[in-house]
Amino acid sequence: MLIVSIWDKLVGQKEVVEELRQYAINRERLANSWLFTGAPGSGRSVAAELFAQTLLCEVSGGKGEPCGECEQCRMVEARTHPDVMFVKTNQKQYKVDDIRSKVMPIANLTPKIGKYRIIYIEDADRLRQESQNSLLKYFEEPEPLTIWILSCPNRGDVLPTIQSRARIVNLKIPSDLDVEMSLKQDGIEQKKAQDVSRLAAGHIGLAKLWANDEEQLKLRLRNSAIALGVHKTVDAVLFAEEVDKEADRLAEEKVQAEIKKDELLLRKELGLGENDKISKEFQSFFKSPNKDDLKRMINRSKQDYIDIILQEILMVYRDITLIQSQGKEELVYNQFDLDLIKKYSLALTKKEVEMRIEKIEEARKRILTNASLKLILESMFCSLLLPTRVLS
Ligand SMILES: [Zn+2]
Repeated sequence: MLIVSIWDKLVGQKEVVEELRQYAINRERLANSWLFTGAPGSGRSVAAELFAQTLLCEVSGGKGEPCGECEQCRMVEARTHPDVMFVKTNQKQYKVDDIRSKVMPIANLTPKIGKYRIIYIEDADRLRQESQNSLLKYFEEPEPLTIWILSCPNRGDVLPTIQSRARIVNLKIPSDLDVEMSLKQDGIEQKKAQDVSRLAAGHIGLAKLWANDEEQLKLRLRNSAIALGVHKTVDAVLFAEEVDKEADRLAEEKVQAEIKKDELLLRKELGLGENDKISKEFQSFFKSPNKDDLKRMINRSKQDYIDIILQEILMVYRDITLIQSQGKEELVYNQFDLDLIKKYSLALTKKEVEMRIEKIEEARKRILTNASLKLILESMFCSLLLPTRVLS
């Protein structure tokens, strides 16, 4: 379907879009530092990308609207614009040294080809206090052509000194209906758009992924099926092993893909092709992580992955609670498994559901410790065993 405005990519954020457009039109009021806040999935990085495009677009940027097609727009989208830096990490925290050596040196440089230099730092809540303090000086005495955009879930996630110097833009969690409309605009049929939006609970990226990728949707639903299918202890052990193995595989894949992507980006920045030999002067830039770092990255990614599964399982029991307490089927997040959820809401007592929710929450906390992930999963799945009276 026809996209009316590139800003439509930012779903369910009418006020934010209007605010950013106005600043792009009246640039004398343009702030140098911004803080985009919003829950994961609300579209913080999409907002940053579109804002960067609008500020740099040569065709219609002055009207508050990126054209999406000029060289500037395309380079921003492809993350190859020499004046636009998207900074993100898959670690718990940004390394102080990375911020000092990779971000700060470019902060005050004049833009090469665009009107501004734009630096976007995703998950600024992962910046150590030391890094935040060292960035503060750029916000206090801003270089007129440098625009900083920091993003984090809540404004309180960064130091008050940063909050007070930044213009704060709050992204809401998009409503199910907004997400549904956006999916329909992309050509997804009504029923699927509706069910997938409900399942994603306001996370636009997930909704799109599940609407367009049947395998991913199946994978997502498999986890709820697991939660509702633990009948015997031997099931619990098997499921724990299966989830643990899969998490290992996905974590490893994800980390390797990210390392590869970083390398490609760096090559681009240095003007090197994918297979060009790296000359001596650049070799220090291409240090691959050592064994310990790699292990840490994979483990961190595995924890994330398992936490997502636990949240999905949690959602099943929240759905059961919804039916038990309000009896309203349309409130259920997982419409795909509605029949099973209804069955369980009758079979389990409220107390039994409550206890299961507690056990899952407990497991979510424990995965952040150094305990064996497989054992945590095993003990959690055992607590989800169905009472024998339900099975008979
Ligand atoms: Zn453009």
